Amino acid sequence: MAELYPVNETFLSWQGEGVHMGRKAFFIRLQGCPVKCTWCDSASTWHPQYVPKNIRKASPDELAKEAGESHPDFVVLTGGEPCVHDLVPLVNALKAAKLKVHLETCGAYEIPEGLDWVTVSPKWAKLPVAESLAKADEVKLIIEVPDSAEKWTAAVGGAWVSKSVWLHPEWSRRADSSILKAITDFVKANGAPYRAGWQVHKPYMADSLDARARPPAPLGGDPGLGF
Ligand code: SF4
Repeated sequence: MAELYPVNETFLSWQGEGVHMGRKAFFIRLQGCPVKCTWCDSASTWHPQYVPKNIRKASPDELAKEAGESHPDFVVLTGGEPCVHDLVPLVNALKAAKLKVHLETCGAYEIPEGLDWVTVSPKWAKLPVAESLAKADEVKLIIEVPDSAEKWTAAVGGAWVSKSVWLHPEWSRRADSSILKAITDFVKANGAPYRAGWQVHKPYMADSLDARARPPAPLGGDPGLGF
């Protein structure tokens, strides 16, 4: 029997982050992640109130057909944490449909072969394994406190393999001048591979324009949620 994946949502949008920012992309967001970052933008990971009631199960071929109908530049496998699932059948189906496949992962779980692009965004709650960092085409560090970049660089010994290490403000702090200044100062002090970044698709509301996308969930890091 074919592998069935729990699908939180699928939608056509454009990639709002990283080297491929601005390119047409079809997103497959798989449900679930055991890491539970408090500020995760998949709110179901940090509070049961936001666990969707209607999680469909879809086969690799079904998802590949759906993605192919949008004729994207590439497909993004995201989550939750997609690598808690066996992605090999899905990657194979997408490749059989002649689609490019990108992955967004925290890097703590095994990354399948055959991907066209891997973005690793490490998380303190479950650190990335060396094999994942070695497969990363780009790294995205979430800057949640002003010295986050220093802490991450120390944690991995500064030995980034990828050419781009993006510094993104944790989204609930995107207007926090101490966070933005820290990113600017770090890039000015270090240069490559560090780059300042943002989630550009969010102010555009680009994902929400597809009726298949779920409405944006609250952020765990937002003050006043009471959780
Ligand atoms: S690892 Fe990623 S998907 Fe999982 S809780 Fe953290 S931010 Fe969310």
